[in-house]
Amino acid sequence: MRRPMAGIAAGVMALAHVLTTATATSAAPAPQRAAAPAGYDATRCGNTSSRVLLTFDDWPYADPDRATRTGAYLHARKIRAAFFLIGEYAGGRPDIVTTLREQGHWVANHSFSHPRLPALSDDEVRMEISSGVRSNMLRPPYGAFGAREESEAAALGYRICTWTVDTLDWEQPDGAYRSVASIRSIVRNAPVEDKYGGVVLGHLDYNFPDAVPGIIDDLEKDGYQLCRNNGPVSVNAPLPLDCG
Ligand SMILES: [Zn+2]
Repeated sequence: MRRPMAGIAAGVMALAHVLTTATATSAAPAPQRAAAPAGYDATRCGNTSSRVLLTFDDWPYADPDRATRTGAYLHARKIRAAFFLIGEYAGGRPDIVTTLREQGHWVANHSFSHPRLPALSDDEVRMEISSGVRSNMLRPPYGAFGAREESEAAALGYRICTWTVDTLDWEQPDGAYRSVASIRSIVRNAPVEDKYGGVVLGHLDYNFPDAVPGIIDDLEKDGYQLCRNNGPVSVNAPLPLDCG
């Protein structure tokens, strides 16, 4: 609570506040990593900014509109996320893809039916990618890819995008999917290197969407910034990603 002050007293207090803030800032520097990796870094999806990108995989099977509700929440907090949707479900709900992009989120390819791409033939790999959500980023299911998948994806106009922080929200440590509190603590305790300019992975059909408000609060409290949402996006993301 601030009380109104007049004249010199207010000026002195304002200066004191500036000095205090400057001291506090130099005493507790914002988290950072030494240098952004050179070239395109698949684990950071080319994100060379210092900002954290939240990403949502798969599909919210029981409640498809959970995707756009999550998108609306992030939009309200002025945060841009990326959604890697499974093609066979997203294809049946093009309105969800459109709405997410209007909300300012990148929507990209996570294959058509979520197989392990390295186990497939060349033709099958191409089919899985080309029947998925049209974009220019591909997140291979399970993060499983090698040189062949990378080059097949490139031939179809895609860069590979994985992650630096895995929330492990799909695990069932106590016979149930990992709780909101546990997901939140995994992100809170992840190494600075992995968060600063990093990519956080969670899924639409587990507890990650419900953990997101707390994850954002924790990141901001620790001095991180999130990928900035500055309006609707098109089919292709700018690569390297533009999070500023
Ligand atoms: Zn997946």
